[in-house]
Amino acid sequence: MREIGLYIHIPFCKQKCFYCDFCSFSNREKEISEYMDALREEMKSWEEKLKGCKIKSIFIGGGTPSIIPIKEMDKILETIHSNFHINKKLEFSIESNPGTINKDNLNYYLKNNINRLSMGLQAWQNDHLKSLGRIHNKEEFLKNFLLAREIGFENINIDLMFGLPNQTLNQWEETLYNVIQLNPEHISSYSLKIEENTEFYRLYEKGILKLPSEELDRRMYHFAMDYLLDYGYKHYEISNFAKEEKECIHNKIYWNNEEYIGFGLGAHSYFNKNRFSNTMIMEKYINNIHKKLSPCEGKESISRKDEIAETMFLGLRMMRGINIKEFKERFGCTPFKIYSEEILKFKKLGLLSTDDQYIRLTRRGIDLSNQVFVSFLPD
Ligand code: SF4
Repeated sequence: MREIGLYIHIPFCKQKCFYCDFCSFSNREKEISEYMDALREEMKSWEEKLKGCKIKSIFIGGGTPSIIPIKEMDKILETIHSNFHINKKLEFSIESNPGTINKDNLNYYLKNNINRLSMGLQAWQNDHLKSLGRIHNKEEFLKNFLLAREIGFENINIDLMFGLPNQTLNQWEETLYNVIQLNPEHISSYSLKIEENTEFYRLYEKGILKLPSEELDRRMYHFAMDYLLDYGYKHYEISNFAKEEKECIHNKIYWNNEEYIGFGLGAHSYFNKNRFSNTMIMEKYINNIHKKLSPCEGKESISRKDEIAETMFLGLRMMRGINIKEFKERFGCTPFKIYSEEILKFKKLGLLSTDDQYIRLTRRGIDLSNQVFVSFLPD
């Protein structure tokens, strides 16, 4: 049976973090119930189209899914189970803010088969958490991490960020050291990017945000690569590290260029050779659903050429690289046939390496990955 992933977007947060440009809003909790009703209607409208599909992963992301009351979450889970075929070995993740989890919601998640908890810590130092606009401190994170373990979560991801304003290499080491002591199964580690329409962008434009140099940012990244490897974490994607067998199945759907459906505000999908995304305007999303209209705003048909290009640059995000045999099975020829010039050029520059089975980024290639990815985009 055709296997796909489901993504469910929850756009509510207690407070907007200063660096965040995700589709999320603070102080709009009053709209939760109406939004969740619309979300359920959108999911039901896909029942027929997904009849021949089995769900291998579900990811409830945001925003902050952990602020959703249990009674609303219960209705969502009921809708999932009564409308879709779920794989028995389902990976079911939920994103959480350490400031919004407690015994009740953690117990509820685990009892209802939500078996992977993702916790956004970002940094170990409370002054950094404060200057990022996070609502929690490290003590709260620690308490709730231990609570999640006690309740029985055996698959926990911790999200971290480096390259923060005024952050030193020592502080980054301290963050990694303390996180490793907790032995989470998965660690995501992203370099801070200053995005437009954020508080940090405003401060950056005014020249009052002191960011680490590019060189220090790369030192932090390389430090994490080596340090996490020493502690048994496999570096399996540019920004992701996992213990044995704990790589995130859902995210690998994206990097393997497989199919998924996204429900909710601004959610993206890839299905039947089409990429499409929902409106990011709350009122429009809810009104369209009420009127039985699609909330989808942008739709792009993916040609074979697009699919090949996407499979290349998404696949190269993974440290194992592009599996040559799998690529040939999917497209009828090897990547060398289509991209001989590019592959040769980047091999000469030391950004790509190849063997009998894989084409992958080198360590230098990871740092310059955007340069490599762009060259695979169709003209
Ligand atoms: S909690 Fe997450 S989604 Fe919400 S504002 Fe902060 S970074 Fe953005």
